[in-house]
Amino acid sequence: MNTNQKLYEGKAKILYATDDADIILSVFKDDATAFNAQKRGTIRGKGEVNCAISTHLFRLLEAEGVRTHWIDTPSPTTMRVRTVTIVPLEVVVRNIAAGSLCRQTGLPVGTPLSPPLVEFYYKNDDLGDPLLTSDRIRILNLAAPSQVEQLQTLALQINNILTKFFDQCGITLVDFKLEFGLDGKQSLLLADEISPDTCRLWDQAETDPERRVMDKDRFRHDLGDVEGAYQRVLARVLGAPLRSPSASEV
Ligand code: UDP
Repeated sequence: MNTNQKLYEGKAKILYATDDADIILSVFKDDATAFNAQKRGTIRGKGEVNCAISTHLFRLLEAEGVRTHWIDTPSPTTMRVRTVTIVPLEVVVRNIAAGSLCRQTGLPVGTPLSPPLVEFYYKNDDLGDPLLTSDRIRILNLAAPSQVEQLQTLALQINNILTKFFDQCGITLVDFKLEFGLDGKQSLLLADEISPDTCRLWDQAETDPERRVMDKDRFRHDLGDVEGAYQRVLARVLGAPLRSPSASEV
């Protein structure tokens, strides 16, 4: 059991204080929620799988020059992360239309989006995480205009890195959600997690719209074999090279 002071318990993780105010522990849980926590359940082994996938992806992003909150992963479900003040925005990047974009606009699922779409949602469960405009972000004072611009640039940079990486795993990165935090110097760091809970991932080896799903949509829509799909994402992520071979290595 963790004897450190619990700072916050969210839907998928618990945060604990450490002796160092600049470092907190993020412990990944098996609990799963969907539709703003109206649907609840457990995905066996999810904590370990998501911690391992997030660790791998944060390490990849750091190697590519993206600053993240990740420090290290001292146990299978625990990350040590830098303390940040979370920006109350959910930054969603979409390469292919799915989910709320299709529900709200009527765009057919699977429509390619080029260039990718970057959207900002208000991280506020009571309001149901509504879609924001830049003027709404300004009126609510959720982030400065220059920060919004920086978030947009970072989100697209991260999308480039992750899209290429997942492609090497035989997985299409359909869309994903990012959260960012500010460190003591007011610099933006990528925070939270990147996992099948927060990404839509489609198996490139499958064409069937249900069979190809390797992410939380299996849980959301009762497609079955949620644990198996998460494990397969992990196996592919761990099996892929951390970077593309350069021309001289091929
Ligand atoms: N997402 C997330 N947390 C949220 C909302 C969305 O991780 O609170 C992820 C979701 O898994 C998907 C992407 O962000 O990969 C876009 O989600 P969308 O807006 O389509 O919402 P949904 O269809 O999941 O309601």
